[in-house]
Amino acid sequence: MGGTGVIGEMAETAQATGADGAALAALHRVFGYEAFRGEQQAVVDHVIAGGDAVVLMPTGGGKSLCYQIPSLVRPGTGIVVSPLIALMQDQVDALRALGVRAGFMNSTQDFEERRVVEAEFLAGELDLLYLAPERLRLEGTLDLLSRGKISLFAIDEAHCVSQWGHDFRPDYLALSLLGERWPDVPRLALTATATHATHREITERLNMPTARHFVASFDRPNIQYRIVPKTDPKKQLLSFLREEHPGDAGIVYCLSRNSVEKTATFLSRNGVEAVPYHAGLDAGTRAAHQSRFLREEGLVVVATIAFGMGIDKPDVRFVAHLDLPKSVEGYYQETGRAGRDGLPSTAWMAYGLNDVIQQRKLIQSGEGDEAFRRRAQSHLDAMLALCETAQCRRGQLLAYFGQEPDPAGCGNCDTCLTPPQTWDGTVAAQKVLSTVVRLKRERGQKFGAGQIIDILLGKRTAKVIQFDHDQLSVFGIGEELTEGEWRGVARQLLAQGLLAVEGEYGTLVLTEASGEVLRREREVPLRKEPEKPASARAAGGGRSDRKQKAAVAELPQELLPAFEALRAWRAEQAREQGVPAYVIFHDATLREIATAWPTSIGQLGGISGVGEKKLATYGEGVLAVLAGLEGPAAVSAPVSEPAPGRPSVGSVSDSGADDWPEVEPEPDDWT
Ligand code: ADP
Ligand code: ZN
Repeated sequence: MGGTGVIGEMAETAQATGADGAALAALHRVFGYEAFRGEQQAVVDHVIAGGDAVVLMPTGGGKSLCYQIPSLVRPGTGIVVSPLIALMQDQVDALRALGVRAGFMNSTQDFEERRVVEAEFLAGELDLLYLAPERLRLEGTLDLLSRGKISLFAIDEAHCVSQWGHDFRPDYLALSLLGERWPDVPRLALTATATHATHREITERLNMPTARHFVASFDRPNIQYRIVPKTDPKKQLLSFLREEHPGDAGIVYCLSRNSVEKTATFLSRNGVEAVPYHAGLDAGTRAAHQSRFLREEGLVVVATIAFGMGIDKPDVRFVAHLDLPKSVEGYYQETGRAGRDGLPSTAWMAYGLNDVIQQRKLIQSGEGDEAFRRRAQSHLDAMLALCETAQCRRGQLLAYFGQEPDPAGCGNCDTCLTPPQTWDGTVAAQKVLSTVVRLKRERGQKFGAGQIIDILLGKRTAKVIQFDHDQLSVFGIGEELTEGEWRGVARQLLAQGLLAVEGEYGTLVLTEASGEVLRREREVPLRKEPEKPASARAAGGGRSDRKQKAAVAELPQELLPAFEALRAWRAEQAREQGVPAYVIFHDATLREIATAWPTSIGQLGGISGVGEKKLATYGEGVLAVLAGLEGPAAVSAPVSEPAPGRPSVGSVSDSGADDWPEVEPEPDDWT
């Protein structure tokens, strides 16, 4: 975010103490949580007192409570603008399970259902009402809203207002009228996208000049970031899943529909249950696959970027990228869908030479004017810098979002776990660049990286012979490196801007900076391609393991039967009610129940994530499960009074994801 001009003073919120008590009471009673986290309290106080707020928090940071609590405390209904309608039902179900009077209005409802919600709103019987932006801007909706009492407007996924962002939704632009029409109703804009540019755009376009800005730390310490060189992506993915995430739920992102389909089929054939998701599938299939992902445990969704926004499944254990995302923002949003429950999770990506070439080509041949291209180019450059860095990945991410990284490294990314070796690649770079020059002179630049590498390695392929490339002075001058290493060199030259891509064939051409290398005016440090990429969990308890264990205590072996019994009970409840399991209780809450082993309703009510309504609905059921097991006497964990105050996770949602066409033009396949 660079400077923090607009972000300013988020520290002290000297607001109404009476409301303060009410907010905390709602947090305890409804959500069963002990305390606010991070900026939540400050935001809640500010909004309850009637102020506007722009809230930047990473996924899983707890944005929902920032508007849900004020909606409960302030008179009237909180209107939540959420871009994707398919998850509204789940969000409302989750809130109703907490005893919150929530409703939604969207095109999935019939007339009668909508009428009931309207009547509830007008009668002041709703705490929260979810709407999509395209519905909100309709005159009929605005008219309805002006006939009821509104406590606040929450604009979720507010980065959708940014025209340059990856999730732009034109309907968001109309939301600026809310402030004009309801000048006395507080507005909150919330997003997990944190660049300075987006932040400024949100504030301007939603017309919130007097809003207070709350910026949380964007660190997600429980997510382990890893980027490996791409060799055989599907196989690499399969072994990653088998070795580190067997039976876990996760998301695999691919660029094209075709590779989504192929990868999903490949995983299914190899014993990993996986379903595809992309905009080319009909709406029914998409909804069914999304619903399965939310409701089942351990399903993998292979998807384009069409999938994921608003998916608030807390126990997504990994997010894998088989193709390079177009920007760090996109990458961060996507990887952020892992580990919302705070438990250890992995963000894994395979990345190679072709990714760079394809993305560069895409930008050049894509639509949009010069300014658009330049922006896309700089987004890609930042992404490439992240991929090629020899420094801590988390540090690079945080710095990108204008936040202070730990100078000692994070201990939970691949470069911290296995610091990459660097080498002086100046001569190798000169060899590649000279070959490019020769091809240019002789054949008018029609060759891609493959041909250049074949020439360097002295391979007499059909294409080499056809064009007499074995006659070039550079033929065979690069036998000291393997093909994979040359690909690494070319990739890094592209990433560093020492090579460029031109035309539809991905021809490599020189840049201005290439000359400096050829003239020996500049050195080229390169990252060594690891022989066996860092597999952190296999890395045998590095620093990260220790760090993680401290943050997220493992459940002791002897408590596993209780945990599993509670999960089985929960699955039964979820099936009966047709809701995702986490709507009943989160894993983190079940872990805490298994640990504390409550024997009375009073004790159970003290556990984080067990609010009043859930206690009334499920209390006896949970106690019965525990009573049916061998008691906690056999267990070493301390059984005192409830275990309050421990950071835990509950079941509130933020937004939805439905009919979301891939925003970018989508090539049918990459070669
Ligand atoms: P976001 O919308 O920012 O991605 P959520 O609002 O979904 O995040 O919150 C992430 C998780 O953290 C949810 O499971 C939520 O119930 C939990 N959570 C949020 N605030 C608290 C809190 N103060 N105490 C305990 N758990 C919390
Ligand atoms: Zn690190």
